Amino acid sequence: MNANLYTLFRSRFPRDLDDCWIETADAQYYSWRDLERGSAKIANLLASLHLPAGSRIAAHVEKSPEALMLYLATVRAGFVYLPLNTAYRAAEMSYFIEDAAPAVVVCSPENFGWVSQIAFKNDTGHVFTLDEPRNGRNSGSLLSRAAHLSDDFTTVHRDDTDLAAILYTSGTTGRSKGAMLSHGNLAANIKVLHEAWRWQAGDVLLHALPLFHIHGLFVAAHGALMNGSKMIFLSKFDSAAVIHHLPRSTIFMGVPTYYVRLLSDPQFDRSTCEKIRLFVSGSAPLLTETFDDFKQRTGHTILERYGMSETGMLTSNPYEGNRKAGTVGPALPGVSVRIVTTQGTPCAIDEIGDIQVKGPNVFQGYWQMPEKTAEEFTSDRYFKTGDVGRMDNEGYISIVGRSKDLIISGGYNVYPKEIESVIDELPGVLESAVIGIAHPDFGEAVTAVIVPRDGCQLSEADIIATLKEKIANFKVPKRVYVVEELPRNTMGKVQKNLLREKFSAG
Ligand code: AMP
Repeated sequence: MNANLYTLFRSRFPRDLDDCWIETADAQYYSWRDLERGSAKIANLLASLHLPAGSRIAAHVEKSPEALMLYLATVRAGFVYLPLNTAYRAAEMSYFIEDAAPAVVVCSPENFGWVSQIAFKNDTGHVFTLDEPRNGRNSGSLLSRAAHLSDDFTTVHRDDTDLAAILYTSGTTGRSKGAMLSHGNLAANIKVLHEAWRWQAGDVLLHALPLFHIHGLFVAAHGALMNGSKMIFLSKFDSAAVIHHLPRSTIFMGVPTYYVRLLSDPQFDRSTCEKIRLFVSGSAPLLTETFDDFKQRTGHTILERYGMSETGMLTSNPYEGNRKAGTVGPALPGVSVRIVTTQGTPCAIDEIGDIQVKGPNVFQGYWQMPEKTAEEFTSDRYFKTGDVGRMDNEGYISIVGRSKDLIISGGYNVYPKEIESVIDELPGVLESAVIGIAHPDFGEAVTAVIVPRDGCQLSEADIIATLKEKIANFKVPKRVYVVEELPRNTMGKVQKNLLREKFSAG
């Protein structure tokens, strides 16, 4: 049997291929036939490049139906999709392109100059824009080249363990790691979610998440593909647009920030949500306050779930049954989740420990990091998630912290170590510590605490302005504090907990 993920989705397309697959915010309609033909054309183009098996196709493109087609075409043609956050700048792109060595890079026309330079320097053979002309010529765009090719393509045979995608994540060292996900991993996870969330005929997904992250791509878009359901596609989250389209939707998925923003809009009420069957939240903790306010305003109980790039979704509050605020629910069927002490022994009910997981959804390892991969698995093949939590007597899990000090701001992961290394390079800076401070809108706000070199004056505004040029906006600290020294424990480690306490009031 062909385990290519596209084959699974293809078997779930609606009978009438002229049904709407995607409706965009500006009322453009794409049918399932458009998807089938469009992905075939792109797959034919990729096949015509005679790339070696396992080649990575990197995409640094804005969200659009065509971007999703590029993803599906890559999978269909048997290559490995590498989505990259559109906010990434040169330093970040250099790292990913050097590390993943993609055979093809697809980017936006406005970034073509610098992205292609980085790509060619790293021996990438082909750099395209997706659909838009560059330099006034349309010949370089992937879609214009693909337009001449056949709209028929036989989906390439793939096994369960063959790679479909690499998602870059990070770890304790702050160096991004590529999580390798196979066709089997992605299929197993979406089959479970399809059942768990009771996807059904007539469902319409309002899709407001980005496509370069697991949540928007492998949970939201995969969910609709697996059910042959229409998506209403917003290029980005915007409360007014969400409120406008919710009355025609049955499912909405978001990060907690989206729910906070919807609640802050007085237009958002029960009538907006009349047709909605399910609100899902994840990627960062949903405050009990938001959960309660949302219920009071709309009558809906948000379903919170928990997952990560390496494993897909691990736990979910139930569709039928008690959705407990402040918890991420029990393990999904077929997924084994356990909480262990630092010695690796099982924790008692409600005892806090490390969350570990095993199941067909768990990734194939980190790209070109066999030792790191081995370190993250126990001898009985459980993956160490790096999250810390507890399980109650009904199997519901609560996440209490992140052993790796990850900051989640507006649903995006920010790795302190990465920002610290950029700050430490700035003139006049001796050292720095980056922490997350609770923030009502972003969940956590990136905050930097900096020690200046002797006699140097540092200004918060200057540092923020300089960082804006160097790193993606979501990683730039919202506040910068200048201190004389960082608090350290006897082992010389910076005590970030003390910094969090000190600056959370400010
Ligand atoms: P990512 O790989 O970008 O999806 O980030 C995964 C991390 O997000 C997890 O390891 C958790 O720390 C965090 N996360 C995901 N969902 C939740 C949730 N519902 N509550 C708290 N943290 C979450």
